[in-house]
Amino acid sequence: MSNLLKGLNEQQKLTVQTTEGYVRVIAGAGTGKTKTLVHRFAYIVNELGVSPSNILCVTFTNKAAQEMKSRLRKLVDFSNVTDLICTYHGLCVKILREDIYRLGYPTQFIIADSEDQKALLKEVFEKLNIKSDRTNYKKVSSKIKYWKQYKKYIVEYISTFNKQKQTEFINSAKNLNKEELLNWQCFIEYLNLQKKGFILDFDDLIQFALYLLQQFPEVLQKWQNKLDYIMVDETQDNSTTQWELVDLLQGTHKNLFVVGDPDQCIYEWRGASPTGLISFEDNYSPCQTIILNRNYRSSPNILDVANSVISKNENRVPKDLYTTKEMSNKVTHFHGKTEDEEGDYIAKTILKHTENGNKLSDFAILYRSSSISRYIEQALVKNKLSYMVYGGIRFFERKEIKDILSYLRMLDSADDISFKRVINLPSRKLGKVFLSSLQEIADSEKRTLYETLRNHINEPQFNKTGAKNFIKLIENTKKQVRLKSLSDIANLIFVESGLEKIYRNEGDQDRLDNINELMSSIKLYENDNTNEDDLSLMKYLQDIALYTNLDYKKDSDFIKIMTIHQSKGLEFPIVFVSGLSEGIFPSHRTIRERRKNGLEEERRLAYVAYTRAEKELYLTESEGYNFEMDNYKFPSRFIFEIKSKLLVKKGTLSSELKKSALKYIQNSSLELKDNEGKEEIKQFSIGTLVFHKLFGEGSIISINDMQQVLEIKFDNGSTKHISIDKAMNVLSII
Ligand code: ATP
Ligand code: MG
Repeated sequence: MSNLLKGLNEQQKLTVQTTEGYVRVIAGAGTGKTKTLVHRFAYIVNELGVSPSNILCVTFTNKAAQEMKSRLRKLVDFSNVTDLICTYHGLCVKILREDIYRLGYPTQFIIADSEDQKALLKEVFEKLNIKSDRTNYKKVSSKIKYWKQYKKYIVEYISTFNKQKQTEFINSAKNLNKEELLNWQCFIEYLNLQKKGFILDFDDLIQFALYLLQQFPEVLQKWQNKLDYIMVDETQDNSTTQWELVDLLQGTHKNLFVVGDPDQCIYEWRGASPTGLISFEDNYSPCQTIILNRNYRSSPNILDVANSVISKNENRVPKDLYTTKEMSNKVTHFHGKTEDEEGDYIAKTILKHTENGNKLSDFAILYRSSSISRYIEQALVKNKLSYMVYGGIRFFERKEIKDILSYLRMLDSADDISFKRVINLPSRKLGKVFLSSLQEIADSEKRTLYETLRNHINEPQFNKTGAKNFIKLIENTKKQVRLKSLSDIANLIFVESGLEKIYRNEGDQDRLDNINELMSSIKLYENDNTNEDDLSLMKYLQDIALYTNLDYKKDSDFIKIMTIHQSKGLEFPIVFVSGLSEGIFPSHRTIRERRKNGLEEERRLAYVAYTRAEKELYLTESEGYNFEMDNYKFPSRFIFEIKSKLLVKKGTLSSELKKSALKYIQNSSLELKDNEGKEEIKQFSIGTLVFHKLFGEGSIISINDMQQVLEIKFDNGSTKHISIDKAMNVLSII
């Protein structure tokens, strides 16, 4: 028997060995979906002899991809485990790197993170003379995100040189109201800047990749031929665009393996659609479905708690999960009188565990909303416990890091965002007049600011010492790029640019620590990419643009704190789920916006949170005033829904408070029942423009309240009747 099958249960073995055709695994949390997927990958490589560079394996986070690679290195015969184990974003970057030139974009296109996006929007606002009372960055960027999902902005605006087509695209929004029209104008200006600087934001990555595959048959064929096998983890959270991408790529070999757990679908609000997993058989036949039932992660106590909560969802297929793990302590519910008490309880419990031999890396603290992290962090600092917030400000977006990275980008793409960031850092006495005349010439010559400066440096208006030194610095260092390692280059530019001096003089230890961290993360990256071809500056810059702040360093001994969304797929020996108060978790906003569907998604989130724990699980909450809801906090229904014999109770929850909490929850459930369907009607009115994932864009032409049906005329010419109770799931308002 292959070594790779050792220790797996029968269903898992079957999964590993069923390598051909369409295969789906549906299974609950901790049943070894991800583990089995890794073994299957190794099996295909070791037993069938397929090269890893012909197997695509898509996971949800960089962290998960890294984890998979390191597990695979232990299982497969050779050490070079391909970078086709990646996230969707990572995959798209690879597709784009090879073929984006077909759209007139250079290979070293720039990936804009949210800091860069802000810099672009600042420029847009200046150009359109927008003051912040009319709209703001947050609103505009969420609109941009939205329009990029549905509008054919690449075909009709980005990739076309046809002026008339572009004008039509600009005018296609003339029905919008005044505020929306302003956002639309920002969108267009933003696209102009992106196009000019060859900048792609995260939403573009998938849209551009899809566009390349759809428009250029030779690109599609190349990828289809290359990918003998495709495997996708966490498919319950695939968006329709992600399904589209997978669907295209599997076209030739038709070996598609998907795994997921419908109970863990937590991204419906962002367009995920579990129907892709549920109706997989309809689209891919013949398909074999395998179910895994044995949970290997959590103690029976934890599993019982998780199951008792998720079973309250009406919209689900029940599962029979069981575990043979030994009993450990019961799940604890702690009720604090104040937030500080809650934070302190968590810190003190961790300390107690560490005295008994646990490491800090054994703990995770999860919460629904990142605002909770404030009092948790305070308590950890007070108790001198080191921790890391996953998904706080991205490490690579911190000022000092961004400064160095911008210098590195000057050595590669020399884009305008980076140029503006570093031209006067340190001060080179190049004032506003200097920069605006440079911009003018750059605009008229259609060149980047840096190129323009280099070409015109000898003209009197630009012939300044600071400018000349800047060019000398960049050009001299550029010559070193091919000769030296990445980490040496980063060090060189840090010192030569004068940045080092600035930060040393400022004496801000945190910043210096972060810079050291960056330097060692570059070394780590070098070690992980020992393949010579992989080590270009361009690739490094594009890769780290996708990293979150836990991805750049190896696990060391600190407590991890993160939102539940970020904890997906991970596991920790001891887990605290904090801030479990009505309104916070379940989030009142989600319930208000998406009613019962929203509540069920919140419950799935609770299921995800609880099932992260291996040995111990603590559920904590506290009294106090919730300013956002303008109400007192009550313990969450996700605690009361647990059978009380499964919980150990700590802290003092008075019987009055408990009574009021139960009453509050009951009222809110009744209200939800009374209003079932009503909210949906309110959101749709005649003339509302909507988007349907299959039929495309259309507008509502009638609403039949009696039959609860919307009649919609779609731009593709068809008219459909959509029932209102389904409408929220299948339609979005444009
Ligand atoms: P999630 O739904 O949370 O993503 P999952 O189904 O992907 O969970 P894994 O993370 O693959 O589950 O596995 C959960 C834990 O169980 C891991 O620690 C894994 O190593 C362990 N495990 C899975 N299968 C077995 C097995 N056959 N023998 C021993 N341990 C196993
Ligand atoms: Mg998993």
